[in-house]
Amino acid sequence: MRIVDIREVAVPLQGGVANSVVSFDGHRVSLVALVSDVVRDGRRLVGVAFNSIGRHAQGGILRDRMVPRVLGAAPESLCGADTGLIDPARVLAAAMRDEKPGGHGDRASAAGAIELACWDLLAKFHDEPAYVTVARGHGRSPVTEGVPVYAAGGYYHPGDTVGRLRDELSGYRDAGYAAVKIKVGGVPLAEDMVRLEAAIDVLGSGSAVAVDANGRFGRDEALDYARAIEGYGLRWYEEATDPLDFDLNRQLAEAYAGPIATGENLFSVQDVKNLLLFGGIRADRDVFQMDAGLSYGLTEYARMIALMGEHGVDRRSAFPHGGHLINLHIAVGLGLGGCEAYPGVFQPFGGYSDGCRLRDGRIRPADDPGFGLEAKSGLADEIARLTA
Ligand code: MG
Repeated sequence: MRIVDIREVAVPLQGGVANSVVSFDGHRVSLVALVSDVVRDGRRLVGVAFNSIGRHAQGGILRDRMVPRVLGAAPESLCGADTGLIDPARVLAAAMRDEKPGGHGDRASAAGAIELACWDLLAKFHDEPAYVTVARGHGRSPVTEGVPVYAAGGYYHPGDTVGRLRDELSGYRDAGYAAVKIKVGGVPLAEDMVRLEAAIDVLGSGSAVAVDANGRFGRDEALDYARAIEGYGLRWYEEATDPLDFDLNRQLAEAYAGPIATGENLFSVQDVKNLLLFGGIRADRDVFQMDAGLSYGLTEYARMIALMGEHGVDRRSAFPHGGHLINLHIAVGLGLGGCEAYPGVFQPFGGYSDGCRLRDGRIRPADDPGFGLEAKSGLADEIARLTA
């Protein structure tokens, strides 16, 4: 198997929602296609993926650095010696040639899109859903009954009201989501508490509601919120403070008894190691949200999960950031705690295809080959244009 072309297009996110730090107006995502020399039914087999959501498109890094490196590499150097098939770790290594260690920024998501497209290509080669390929590649059996899923919403909308939030969350509940997440930190604490109490009222329990501050708070505000929410028994308190301030995470963990979630802005094994060593992690409750699409792809992500295990943290503590098909297949393939969903936001990437089955708070992928991105409405058109 050889890669004969790599294409990228920056696809705008639809919506106009915001969290406490970022407005997603103007955000784009890199959709990447790896074109192989394998021909099926008269067409070249193509692996497709994207660099998750929220860290912008990375066309410059892809075009200027990574795509020329992969296309310029000796074809056999990108394949497993025993299989002759594309090896995602080898492709990642080629994409990362001449890159210094450390400083894991935008290049991590550029590389992630290419590496994940390799998995899609492999799954399509075997004519199977990606979760099967991912599980086999890591010596595991997929979680055939699907994984727990929660609806990530509660963003701040222009002219927002608590009534709108209630309607949104009621819609998730009625669609079969047993748990939700809402944003905090975008309005004063007292207003956020009204929003939170409305969410708890709609879902019926604090244990069904998580809150996410997107790293906005300094120490004092993080602790003020911790005191305010402590009595509600929330599902988790997410990214209260700067994601790389492990000492502050430790202080928060000492002050707040409930689960703390973080990790979506850690892009390397080394960053996760520092979180595990210095972040005051409580293995029995805290939640890890690293995201393969933001962190060099599944090769690096699987190493993070293995490292968690070495530190006594069960892989079921992992709920990857990014509520989309790629992370659903990874969660099922690796046996993680679950995944999030973006029903209604971050289209055309967010949420799942019609063939995915949501039932009793769990979601199971459809059986489309690969990640099944071609089966997702809206995204199918973008892929067709990119691969035409
Ligand atoms: Mg988050």
